[in-house]
Amino acid sequence: MNAALLPTRGVLFRWAHVLPVTDATPRVTLGEGDTPLVRAERLAARCGLDELWFKLESCNPTGSFKDRGMVVAVAKALEAGARAVLCASTGNTSASAAAYAARCGLACYVLVPEGKVAAGKLAQAVAFGARIVEVRGNFDEALAAARAVTERHGIALVNSVNPHRIEGQKTAAFEICETLGDAPDILAIPVGNAGNITAYWRGFVECRERGYASRCPRMFGFQAAGAAPIVLGRPVENPTTIATAIRIGNPASWQGAIRARDESGGLIEAVTDDQILAAYRLLAREEGIFVEPASAACVAGLLALGEAGRLRGGRAVAVLTGNGLKDPDTPRAVYQADVVRAPATLEGVERALGLRG
Ligand SMILES: *Cc1c(COP(=O)(O)O)cnc(C)c1O
Repeated sequence: MNAALLPTRGVLFRWAHVLPVTDATPRVTLGEGDTPLVRAERLAARCGLDELWFKLESCNPTGSFKDRGMVVAVAKALEAGARAVLCASTGNTSASAAAYAARCGLACYVLVPEGKVAAGKLAQAVAFGARIVEVRGNFDEALAAARAVTERHGIALVNSVNPHRIEGQKTAAFEICETLGDAPDILAIPVGNAGNITAYWRGFVECRERGYASRCPRMFGFQAAGAAPIVLGRPVENPTTIATAIRIGNPASWQGAIRARDESGGLIEAVTDDQILAAYRLLAREEGIFVEPASAACVAGLLALGEAGRLRGGRAVAVLTGNGLKDPDTPRAVYQADVVRAPATLEGVERALGLRG
């Protein structure tokens, strides 16, 4: 092929040298990674920061960071001769697994908690042709079932307990160091199953080891108050939060999150659904960025720390994990939609907009 037509984007092309890939690993891509790092216009000062940047993981092919790890997990499953992949999911993992499985001709099975998956995410799994099982139970129970089924039937489990997922997800830390020229002072991130905070921490540590960064950031993780097992120090049996992507009571990567927090001198704290929705609104209305509620949790956390006077300047990066379009029902619950009806005439529209004297 003409060299100019070869892919230059994609986690397996850009970051093969830091990933567990070999010449035999298929170079799968849907163009994931290389997401924008956009500077906040208004929210930095409110948080007590000199600089606040948003890593727009919502710009990945299926609209969440899950694609970074999924591309590696699916490529390694192909390399190992797998015919099918399976995951338990609060929604985004299933959307991502279904997309990469379709791309590679693998069957995909997804286990989702009944009635607790945002509409857009389920629509993706349906569109990509996944076999969907709604389990009567929460995410933690679905993950236990997923482990049991995959062990018994030789199907590749592509949850973040799959180490290739964490490896792929760490590439976001490499991109941040590359763009900023060093690690930031603070990395703020929502925490659900805790795979992503584990992955970022590994990424930053490796960046320092490889000389891509002179230091590591403090890791600030945020859980939803109704689903905050790490903050409470014990599993939560019936987690509840509007932020369905982090509605997890017993995180698989709990120890990884603790290590990230303690080795970095960081923190893991809880934010209420009201704080999450306030941040969700500010991101949309003051920054022009539409994320799903779980993503807003880390901005809610920075705002709360800022209001409490606990942040004294510095540069922070907030990981905006998923696209707002995945969860179209939340805006209706949060906003009074500003919609009026009018005839399709000059006068009608002028009246509707209050432009007639
Ligand atoms: C998966 C997910 C999270 C939580 O990530 P963990 O690795 O489970 O901690 C947060 N936000 C979104 C949008 C997600 O899809």
